[in-house]
Amino acid sequence: MIAKKSEDIQNLREAGKILASALQHVATLVRPGVSTAKLDVAAEKYIRDAGAVPAFLNYMPDGATSAFPAVLCVSINDEVVHGIPSEERIITQGDLVMLDLGLSYNGLFSDAAITVCAGACDEKGTRLIKATQEALAAAIEVAKAGNRTGDIGAAIEAVAKKYNLSVVDELGGHSLGLVPHEKPFVSNTGKAGTGEILSEGLIIAIEPIFTEGKPDIFLDSDEWTYRTEDGSRSAETEHTVMVTKDGAEVLTRV
Ligand code: MG
Repeated sequence: MIAKKSEDIQNLREAGKILASALQHVATLVRPGVSTAKLDVAAEKYIRDAGAVPAFLNYMPDGATSAFPAVLCVSINDEVVHGIPSEERIITQGDLVMLDLGLSYNGLFSDAAITVCAGACDEKGTRLIKATQEALAAAIEVAKAGNRTGDIGAAIEAVAKKYNLSVVDELGGHSLGLVPHEKPFVSNTGKAGTGEILSEGLIIAIEPIFTEGKPDIFLDSDEWTYRTEDGSRSAETEHTVMVTKDGAEVLTRV
């Protein structure tokens, strides 16, 4: 959506604030021995206690064969996105755990993700996470009114190149606001000066996803989880932002 009404902007800011603190809270629970279902329960409680509504629970995008059965996506190591929480899935030492969460507040949607390491992290894992954070920061800087979606993709790609990592471009960012996902698609790759123009007030989720190996992914038999084809680890960092004249305002911050 292109947010124009100040009431909508206030609700988007509040949605983002609740989401950022929910993610921060869930991240403190990530440690070896914890099930991913426990993280999902904690996320749902936090969101509902704050007066917000989970956006991913029972979400069924066009083309899906089943509704997403949880509040939180937890994608570990070679799982790229949309991992389904489970009592049986126990986090182990050194896992790269991507937490992706969406919610609505007074009908306005927000979407964000972080990747954290369970226990002690190896140097390559730390570097992979840091690269996605740096890519997101670079993308936010160019997400200003009059620029184009290709500027965002180019900024993300440049950081991946610097770190010698691969960009997953089958998945990427998107607009949102009155619904959890809408056009335009905000690719993680692109050429500066091309693509859709970013208008002032446009709400977009920007979500660089990098892998340590090749960028190819496939859909698991659970019909939700995407994994890397070569089994290499991936990480993602995501913010929902509002495009302004001077760069993006990050909505999903505490
Ligand atoms: Mg997300």
